[in-house]
Amino acid sequence: MLRLTLDMDDVMADTHRKLVNVVLNDFATTYTEKDLYAKGLRELLHPKQLNKLHKIIDTPGFFADIEVMPGAVETVHKLSGFYEIFVATACMEFPSSFNDKFAWLKRHFPFIPWTNVVFCGYKSIIQSDYLIDDQVRNLVAFKGNGVLFSAPHNLKNNTFKRVSDWKDVSELFLPIA
Ligand SMILES: [Mg+2]
Repeated sequence: MLRLTLDMDDVMADTHRKLVNVVLNDFATTYTEKDLYAKGLRELLHPKQLNKLHKIIDTPGFFADIEVMPGAVETVHKLSGFYEIFVATACMEFPSSFNDKFAWLKRHFPFIPWTNVVFCGYKSIIQSDYLIDDQVRNLVAFKGNGVLFSAPHNLKNNTFKRVSDWKDVSELFLPIA
């Protein structure tokens, strides 16, 4: 079986949506929701705001209630019949996220065993045939076939095969979508 590795944030989990809600509700900002989907937050926000956001992300509970990306559960479940599914999340930067992330996976993707979950730093360590990720730097570090999952912060990249959503993933990887 070919091995297919999935990133969590902005691939399995709609992390950007949660960040946008934090910015709109808790930050002094003139940006609209639409603005916050047009570019990456790193490009849009002031360094002080990014700092504040970093602290919020590093607070226990932040990852606990993030919404699942539409179509992810059904598609990953179908994919697991054809691929060895792994999850790899570069979460070492946010140690307080570990418990929330692991519990989130158990709750939404109970069919992925703990043996196939990797909490890592650089994704160069991942040995897999495919990696679906929204961060260009992770795909650059990865040695297999990288697939870029569209997100506001990667819209300009054209070096990787791109998927816009889980329907695209399904069409790309399943014999019958
Ligand atoms: Mg990600």
